[in-house]
Amino acid sequence: MNLDGVMLAREIMSSANVASNVIIFLFGTLFGSFVNVCIARLPVGKSIVWPGSSCGACGVPLPGWQNVPVLAYLLLRGRCWFCRTPFSRRYLLMELLVGALATALWVHADGPRAEFFYYFTFACLLVIVFFVDLDAWIILDEVNYFGVVAGMLGAAALPPRYLMLHDMGLPVPGWPPWLLNVLWSALGALVGYAFFLAIAVIGSALARQEAMGRGDVKFAAMIGAFLGPQQGMTALLLSFPLGALVAVPLLLVRGKGGKTPVPFGTFMAVAAFGMVIYGARIMRWLDPLAYPFDVPGY
Ligand SMILES: [Zn+2]
Repeated sequence: MNLDGVMLAREIMSSANVASNVIIFLFGTLFGSFVNVCIARLPVGKSIVWPGSSCGACGVPLPGWQNVPVLAYLLLRGRCWFCRTPFSRRYLLMELLVGALATALWVHADGPRAEFFYYFTFACLLVIVFFVDLDAWIILDEVNYFGVVAGMLGAAALPPRYLMLHDMGLPVPGWPPWLLNVLWSALGALVGYAFFLAIAVIGSALARQEAMGRGDVKFAAMIGAFLGPQQGMTALLLSFPLGALVAVPLLLVRGKGGKTPVPFGTFMAVAAFGMVIYGARIMRWLDPLAYPFDVPGY
């Protein structure tokens, strides 16, 4: 259950699994097209369920078949059927990306288990946060709140995630596993929120300007809810070196008066997804003594 990257690639390619992986990829592209709708409409306050998609240039509503992910784009050669205006290539890339994430998680979760649906929901939210933050420099409250609630409630369906408390010799109350999972997830949200709130308050005082947006603080709670306190905190900590790795060279090249060229939420999203796939490995690498076993849960 804790596959690394090479094994993951081998599993995806192995012939016995190709058919189910293709189906899951297509399932992912459907959600990719919904993620597109969310990225385009949520920041401007439009409904994500109604009306259906229409051409951005001529406004003609797209007929049903033109909503088929990937295939419609290829058949239409990336242009509006009516006015021939090219669609952004990002729609296609987003569908392919979410399809690929779905396939990776499917293989990782070893089939239709609760973990797959849980982490696929998380992945879709991360993609939305990543692109909205990149485009508009905001992380939307509705996405964060939905994420915190989904992360906590969904944890009830997972296998026990708090078993490391046993390993560490800490007392675990004799409550049902689903309840402990939800509480563990709530603890993750609280710890993530408190950690980033502290950075926001202290950082702003030191820098005498807003060091971290309130959206980032709520997003940290969402990441904590989905990953739990330990992996959540690790993902949040890793987002800083990841951000530095990307932002420092960009700053040197562009030299924009000390302003970060890329919003921080994008790094948090990448670190969080990395933790979903490589969590066990990263935790063991960081602290081999505390993690002699596979990290339970995922
Ligand atoms: Zn058109």
